Amino acid sequence: MSEEANPFESLQSQIDAAAEHVDVDEDVIERLKHPERVLETNLTVEMDDGSLERFTAFRSQFNGDRGPYKGGIRYHPNVTRDEVKALSGWMTYKTAIVDIPLGGGKGGIIIDPAEYSESELERITRAFAKELTPMIGVDRDVPAPDVNTGQREMNWIKDTYETLENTTEPGVITGKAIDSGGSEGRVEATGRSTVIAAREAFDYLGEDIADATVAVQGYGNAGWIAAKLVEDLGATVVAVSDSSGGIYSEDGLDAREVKAFKNETGSITGYSEADEEISNDDLLTLDVDLLIPAALENAIDADLAEDVQADVISEAANGPITPAADEVLAAKDVVVIPDILANAGGVTVSYFEWVQNRQRFYWSEQRVNEELESIIVDSFDALTDAYEECDLENFRTAAYVVSVQRVADAFEQAGTFP
Ligand code: NAD
Repeated sequence: MSEEANPFESLQSQIDAAAEHVDVDEDVIERLKHPERVLETNLTVEMDDGSLERFTAFRSQFNGDRGPYKGGIRYHPNVTRDEVKALSGWMTYKTAIVDIPLGGGKGGIIIDPAEYSESELERITRAFAKELTPMIGVDRDVPAPDVNTGQREMNWIKDTYETLENTTEPGVITGKAIDSGGSEGRVEATGRSTVIAAREAFDYLGEDIADATVAVQGYGNAGWIAAKLVEDLGATVVAVSDSSGGIYSEDGLDAREVKAFKNETGSITGYSEADEEISNDDLLTLDVDLLIPAALENAIDADLAEDVQADVISEAANGPITPAADEVLAAKDVVVIPDILANAGGVTVSYFEWVQNRQRFYWSEQRVNEELESIIVDSFDALTDAYEECDLENFRTAAYVVSVQRVADAFEQAGTFP
């Protein structure tokens, strides 16, 4: 990568681009570009050998105008305050574009979890949960998993919160295991919405996704599920990658077999059925119909965008395309389905989980998938309506036009306090 965009500045420039097309005062736009508050905390945790280690952790509550703050908790060595702020902002506009009654938040710990034992990770997670307890709650702020966190961490956070608050409140966190109050369909939801949105985009362009060739960057939860589901629609997944590198097969890979290989060996490289191994940059610039970036932010910068050959990009990851790259891709007529819609399946099914927790009544996987399908299709239609009505340069600005207007309306209707 030649340029490392600051994700918080990327978020702000996306809001500025939408601001030109919405009926919102400049001073309200200013509010919508900054988090309401950010917790920065240092956790001192005992390691297995008895020594103490310090970890810096963040929770950003970006906007609560439409409902409780909502967003994941990430464990990664490159977590920064600005990254967490940006991710919390994207959550605000994500919950708004899919029109669910939640706001936006995000958290993270600066840590490489691979370097710690399970019991150390449990103590680190519980230490963070203790710091979070006064600011989270079913009607306040509802965390969820993100990169390198999953059901295990969510269960620890829920248990710490419930113990400290002397209550049972499964809706304080989503992404839980089913037996701890999780929802059917949550694990697959992000990859599912990425593929539903891509299918709608192909349809909008008068094409059939079944005929598409596909490359997927990142083979974790979001990437592998997207690969599997797009394959189920008849498309051909020709390339996938993870942090170890990429693999390519002209006639298509079998997404499930690649996943089984990764489960066995820890990475996708070395998979013997592939024609060849490729670099991550090679994958992103393959001549495919659909590209799904499902790793981390800033995967595609302006230089790399010049070489992108895909016709459609569906952003499973958050912020994988820099604003400068967005301009290059728009000039090349590459259709980009923005992250705040494409990967909104995760938060949408988190919302269903929260609803089920509150009602203490649980839905079937079929119901979850049907409700998700209709929300993503309706949101895609709202996006394309704005795209056409405002004659916008790309789908991303259209998504922000819809969502910024919704958040601003909620703020303005409530009035200011004090
Ligand atoms: P994950 O940890 O399960 O998977 C991440 C994958 O990316 C891994 O396969 C890893 O090897 C790979 N990766 C890391 N660096 C890479 C690189 N430089 N090149 C290629 N691959 C690389 O995480 P996830 O839950 O799948 O999340 C992936 C992205 O999707 C993140 O941006 C996350 O914020 C976003 N997202 C996830 C969810 C969710 O519900 N899981 C929801 C919304 C958005």
